[in-house]
Amino acid sequence: MAIQLNAGQLESIRSYGAREYPNECCGMLLGHADGAVKQVSEVVPLRNLRHDTARAQELLPLEDPGRESEKNRFLIDPQEQLRVEKEARARGLDVLGYYHSHPDHPARPSNYDREHAWPWYSYIILSVEQGQASELTSWVLSEDRARFDPERVKL
Ligand SMILES: [Zn+2]
Repeated sequence: MAIQLNAGQLESIRSYGAREYPNECCGMLLGHADGAVKQVSEVVPLRNLRHDTARAQELLPLEDPGRESEKNRFLIDPQEQLRVEKEARARGLDVLGYYHSHPDHPARPSNYDREHAWPWYSYIILSVEQGQASELTSWVLSEDRARFDPERVKL
């Protein structure tokens, strides 16, 4: 599989990542899966619920709150995710995947990312170095959930 975005959509992910630095940004990717290509038609920026520490801890507690925060973890509000999914479906769009940023870390999925991912979906990761959007990669979780495979990003 490959995921295809246009220049404006890529720029929207990059600028959101830079704006949220040093925190992680996150969002959803909507569009159509057409054979071997996921064609993105909309990039939906969402709030990183880790900003709301109390609510986030209730939903999905961090294992090590001393080392984990919105700077290296993201959480999409399940209610917001459901709303975006419903609205997308009503407009004939599919959820193709998710994106988030890695402030001052490489654009490689972490173990945490793998543990909270589902197969098939695209997981775009943007590295943001010192506030500047840097490398952008996309990943798909294997069916047995053991590893992330890199996915080609087409412009
Ligand atoms: Zn991550």
